[in-house]
Amino acid sequence: RNHLISKLKEASTGREEDVFAHLPGGETVSFGALFAGAERMAAALVSCGVEPGDRVAVQVAKTIQAIELYLGTVMAGGIFLPLNTAYTGPEVAYFVGDASPRVVVCDPDRLDEISTISGEAKVLTLNAAGQGSLRDLADAQDGFDVVARDSGDLAAILYTSGTTGRSKGAMLSHDNLASNSAVLRDYWRFTADDVLIHALPIFHTHGLFVATNVALLSGAKVVFLPGFDADAILEAMPTATALMGVPTFYTRLLADERLTRERAGNMRLFISGSAPLLVDTHEQWEARTGHRILERYGMTETNMSTSNPYDGERRAGTVGFPLPGIEARVMDEGAEVPTGEIGVLEVRGANVFQGYWQMPEKTAEELKPDGWFITGDMAKIDADGYVTIVGREKDLIITGGFNVYPKEVESLIDDLPGVLESAVIGAPHPDFGEGVVAIVVPEGDGTSAQAISGALQGQLAKFKQPKRVIVLDALPRNTMGKVQKKALRETYAGIFA
Ligand code: ATP
Ligand code: MG
Repeated sequence: RNHLISKLKEASTGREEDVFAHLPGGETVSFGALFAGAERMAAALVSCGVEPGDRVAVQVAKTIQAIELYLGTVMAGGIFLPLNTAYTGPEVAYFVGDASPRVVVCDPDRLDEISTISGEAKVLTLNAAGQGSLRDLADAQDGFDVVARDSGDLAAILYTSGTTGRSKGAMLSHDNLASNSAVLRDYWRFTADDVLIHALPIFHTHGLFVATNVALLSGAKVVFLPGFDADAILEAMPTATALMGVPTFYTRLLADERLTRERAGNMRLFISGSAPLLVDTHEQWEARTGHRILERYGMTETNMSTSNPYDGERRAGTVGFPLPGIEARVMDEGAEVPTGEIGVLEVRGANVFQGYWQMPEKTAEELKPDGWFITGDMAKIDADGYVTIVGREKDLIITGGFNVYPKEVESLIDDLPGVLESAVIGAPHPDFGEGVVAIVVPEGDGTSAQAISGALQGQLAKFKQPKRVIVLDALPRNTMGKVQKKALRETYAGIFA
């Protein structure tokens, strides 16, 4: 059967009594209980009129019941549509208006607000304890037979993070999700012996598909945490084997002296993605724990496309090789660039999505008929085949007709003494079109705008040198640790005016 759910169930078939999730407070959930809960969710959704192809929009806290709701939606032939819990009423209204779901599930505290913007949809609730009107309805159901679906049918619509503009709904098929999870399980060697620390949100590809699907597909256990919690992660680490995190997980854990080589002794794998991992973090992590973080690259539209190797060299600052069955190439003006040169990264494979929900023009611009997807990320591939992401095409700065890749300038600044990290952006400039602006976060003894400008003088061509350096306490980031350059560009839009 080509159904995502049949595949996710396979590894735990015959081991229904085994523990899938350890919850905070000591409770556990078996594989059997998880899938039985998902069946009741499916039956509850069908009782609300959900038919194959219907969207189920979900903005709820991270609970096992929310995972059951994801699985149950797919069992019912529906399309799971998770929403960031930080989204406000007007933001949710945009997504609900765009996706016209049959059912909307929200936190009971927001029932009134969400009901007024949900139109025809039936609104049900689920709270941070896994209780609410959806749970009540589900508890009253018996089993459920999975609704047949084809591998090309949609299982989920995930909205992109909105880093570069308005979020787009990426349509993901059963096969998009199943194929990528299987590739990752094999590439990262996940088995039923693994214990994965699951602290990522489940409204995003990383926590929902990479972490949850890979764990289920390999029959592994998860330590299921409602969010990032250094205490809980460090407590779980001695008996866990793997952690998936965004870069900020690693910098926050490094700030805790309880992170030691001994504590990480049972771990076999630390994975990072969703945003670039600083080389510095990579090195500090290895010095402290003896483990080299494995960095991978992906996006909502493609799930994971590249990964550093399990056995070979995990090269800091790179995102490794295209995963098995996935092709990657770097293009400029319609042709592949020579090895090592920068261009726009394109990927092709069973992981690539089915297009943007209700955006046929946008889909046609980015997804070519021959299957290549234009990621919008700028990258280079070196002679050994390692892919390096150098930034987003939309963040490229053009000043006086010259291209400046922010990453090149950021890397130099980050290496200066007294600097933690930086973000380099372009701001409108009356003479040059755009002018380079560096926003710098200090550490230790600190730094100054003058010190940075001075240090860069001998190192960078004049046009690449920041015309302004701003020292800030922190960079604006979203929940996935992505630096919000769009917000910085807005803040400093008038700096050269
Ligand atoms: P939007 O498409 O709405 O602007 P977004 O691209 O941030 O938002 P996501 O799909 O969540 O939404 O993020 C994918 C992007 O995250 C990639 O295109 C890439 O720019 C970045 N990314 C993911 N992993 C890495 C990594 N390891 N290194 C550098 N960048 C990464
Ligand atoms: Mg994107």
